[in-house]
This record gives sequence, C-alpha cells and structure tokens, in this order.
Amino acid sequence: MEHPVAKYRCERCGYDEYRMSAREVGEIALGECPRCGGDFQVVECGKKPKELAEVEEAIGKRFEILDFSFRRGRGDFLVETRDPSRAFLKTFRAVKKRGFLIAMREREGELHLLTTKAPPVEKSNIATNIVLLLATIGTTLFAGFYLSSHNLVIQGAWGHFSNAILFSLALMAILGAHEMGHKIAAWRHDVATTWPYFIPFPHPYIGTFGAVIKVKSPIPTKEALVEMGACGPILGFLLALPITTMGIALSEPLGGELFKVLPTPLIFALLGIFKFGHFPSALNPHPFAWAGFIGLLVTWLNLIPAGQLDGGHVVRGVLSKEQHHRLTRTLGFTFIVLGLLTGILPLTMWGLLILLLFGTPHGGALDDVSKLRGRQKIIVGVALAIFILCLPIPL
Ligand SMILES: [Zn+2]
Ligand SMILES: [Zn+2]
Repeated sequence: MEHPVAKYRCERCGYDEYRMSAREVGEIALGECPRCGGDFQVVECGKKPKELAEVEEAIGKRFEILDFSFRRGRGDFLVETRDPSRAFLKTFRAVKKRGFLIAMREREGELHLLTTKAPPVEKSNIATNIVLLLATIGTTLFAGFYLSSHNLVIQGAWGHFSNAILFSLALMAILGAHEMGHKIAAWRHDVATTWPYFIPFPHPYIGTFGAVIKVKSPIPTKEALVEMGACGPILGFLLALPITTMGIALSEPLGGELFKVLPTPLIFALLGIFKFGHFPSALNPHPFAWAGFIGLLVTWLNLIPAGQLDGGHVVRGVLSKEQHHRLTRTLGFTFIVLGLLTGILPLTMWGLLILLLFGTPHGGALDDVSKLRGRQKIIVGVALAIFILCLPIPL
C-alpha cells in the first residue's frame, strides 16, 4: 500500500525529515521538530526518495505500516503484524539485498522497525589469522616440550618431542572445534565473521589463551545469537570429552604435580574418580589429559554468561538488555570478591576484565522482540549443562 508522504523542515534549526503525512505544502506542525522542538513545516509533498520507497515497499509486504519518519536511510516505522518474528526475518533478508539493515524494538507496547544503511562489511586480512595460528602452534609445542622435559607429563615412548606434538595437537583440535562451531553457526545465519584469531601465550604450562572470532555484521535474531554463542563451546566440549577420557586412561593415577596449579573442571574430576577411584589431583598426566583439562577450563571461561562472552550471547537470547547488564556486573563483582576470598587471583583478574570489557550492555539481536523457540531453548539448556560440567572445583 502506498502511504502519503511529506517532507518537513524545522524553521528554527533547519532539521528535515520525511514523514507519513497527508499535509499540504506550507502547513505547520507546531513544536514537532524532533531535534529542537521548533515548528515543523511541510516543504514538499508526495515525493518519496528512492531509499524510502524501497524500504517502505519491503516492510509493507509483511507489516502494516501505521506511521513512519525517514532521513538519509535512517527510518523509524511504527508497524503491526500478527507474527512479528517471521515477518521480521523475511523483511530483514529483503532489505539486506538492497543494502539496508533493519532492527525491531518494542517501545511502550508499540512495535517499531528501525532502518539504516548497512555499513560495508570490513575486509579482514587472513594473513593475520595464519600468523597467529602458526604462532600458537609454536607456543603450544613449546609448552608441551617444557611439560615433558620437566617431567610434568608422563614420558612417551619417543621422547619429549612426541609429547609436545601430542599436547599441541589435542589442544589445538579442541580450540579449533570450538571456533568452527562459531563459524558454522555464523554461516547458518548468514552473519559475517572473521576467521579465528588464535592467541599465542608463551606460558610453559598452557601455551595459549584460546581464540576469538570477530563478528562483522549484526546478528539478526535471538536464535542466531544463541546458536552463535553456544555452538563453539558445544563442539569444543564434544571433542574435549573423548580426548580427556583417553588422556586420563593413559595417565598414571599418582605422582604428578601439575593438577595442583589450577582448579579442576567437574567432569575431569568425575572421569578421574571413575577411572582411579579418587580425585585426580595427583595425576601424572598423559599430554592428552592436560590438553583436555585446559580445553574444559577454556570452555567454562567462555560460557560465563557475562557481556559478549559466548555464554553472554546465549543468555542475552533469554534476558533483556537491562537484566543481562545487571547479571554481567554482578558476575564481575562476584569473581573479584571470590578471587580475593579464596586467593585464586586469576578469578579476580577475570572479574575485573569482565567489568572493564563489558561496560556497555550487550545490544542483542536485531530482532530484540521475539521470544526464543523450542529448539534454541534446548541449546540454552545444553550450554548450561556444559557450563556446570566444566565448573572448576578448587581443592
Ligand atoms: Zn528544529
Ligand atoms: Zn567461543
């Protein structure tokens, strides 16, 4: 349906915009300038800029447009429809092809569609990813070699170098699966992301801080948000589990020092108890066991439901912007205090990092109105179960 349009200009500040309006040229809307509250005068009517006509047509196909204002690609459409989530997703795809982004918000019980011109997707240089990947293979090999040559893992048949390779391979596979989980979810929902940036960390026990993927285009729906957050930890966990099981089976039950350094993930402790009948704190590990241990800890750290962490994305699919921001701050403070109380200072560091990194609330998906459906609720449940299974228990 064609809606009448008029271009208004403020007499005081010069601000102008197009509005759905049947007023004639010269008519005045008293005090309606959205910028300064001055009088808004109709300076043109009936003529629609091409951009406005395009988005209006796409939106009008699936929503009833009750009102709109529009200026240089930025529009605010007051709309109604019976099934907002479906209508949104189809409209999102239609306007995306024409170079627009669209978001859906609820304000005072009214449904608004906000449009803007899509910024060009940043080009990223894959050389950086490759260099970081190679560097991380290097630092994990170094860690594996150090662990082996300092008798912190069991000695393989072929010496330190084979131990280094086993450790690096297992850890990189877990982290790689984690990152591929994110990438697959991004492909599924047509979200542009970079390739993973692995973080080399020349620490003799660990070798890496995991990896990150940068999201380059907005995430359209809560479904996409939940899947993009959860699929990484789920896939990483699914690989960490057999590697850990195998690693524990190949370890010696006693005589090791390594596991006293960090708190033990719950599932690791359970597998150890299942295999040896006691808490595996003195395990003399096969390199796979230590790689699995780190993989499980990394999974847990990522699943903390704060800010833009993987778990943050998942939980933002369920909570509102304000609720989630409150949760983020609460978690940050809790970790700081817990770390100080227990003397586990990395926990305090992590809490500080959460507060510093996620000062601004998680914007959520473009459709911030629809509720999650059954399938994604299951994914949220699975992520929660993994979070609990990976929970580090301090001794
Ligand atoms: Zn004005
Ligand atoms: Zn992740």
